[in-house]
Amino acid sequence: MRPPYGFNESLFQSECVACESRACVTSCEEEIILIRADGTPMLNFSKKGCTFCEACAKACMPNVLSLENQHTSESINARFIISTEGCVAHNGVICFACKEPCIDDAILFNGMFNPVIDMDLCTACGYCLGRCPTQAISYTATEIKSEEHL
Ligand code: SF4
Ligand code: SF4
Ligand code: SF4
Repeated sequence: MRPPYGFNESLFQSECVACESRACVTSCEEEIILIRADGTPMLNFSKKGCTFCEACAKACMPNVLSLENQHTSESINARFIISTEGCVAHNGVICFACKEPCIDDAILFNGMFNPVIDMDLCTACGYCLGRCPTQAISYTATEIKSEEHL
C-alpha cells in the first residue's frame, strides 16, 4: 500500500526512486512509512496505523503526495477484511480488540459477535490490523487510479 495523498502510481515510480530526502518517512510520527527495495514508499501496519495527519504530504517536495489530492485521499489503497475462521468473536469468544482502535467505527458487531468491516466507513487506516490477537484481519492492496480517472 502507498501512503495517503498520492494518487498517481507513475509518480511513485518516477520521482520516489530519485528522492534523496525520503521526507515522507521522517515526517511520519507513526513511523509507518518504509521504503521498499525498489525505492518507493509503502505503509507498514504491523504496529500502528495512519492518522491522516497530512505530515507526509506537506513534507513531500516533488508532490508525489499532495494535499491537492485531499478530496480523494481520506483513504488508503487497501481493502481490509476479517476472517471468520481466524476471528475468535466469530467462534463464540468475546473479543473487541479490533473495535477499540477503529475511530471511524467501521467494525460492526452483531451483538457481541461476528464482526464485519463496513467498507463504506473503513478508511483503511490500518490500526485494527496489529490489534487482532489471532491475526484474523488482513488486507489486499487495491489499484491506485490516477487523478484524471477519478
Ligand atoms: S518524500 Fe515524496 S518523493 Fe520522496 S520518497 Fe516520499 S513520497 Fe516519494
Ligand atoms: S498521513 Fe501522517 S500518519 Fe499517515 S502516513 Fe502520512 S505522515 Fe504517516
Ligand atoms: S476497520 Fe478500517 S477504519 Fe477501522 S481500524 Fe480497521 S482499517 Fe481503520
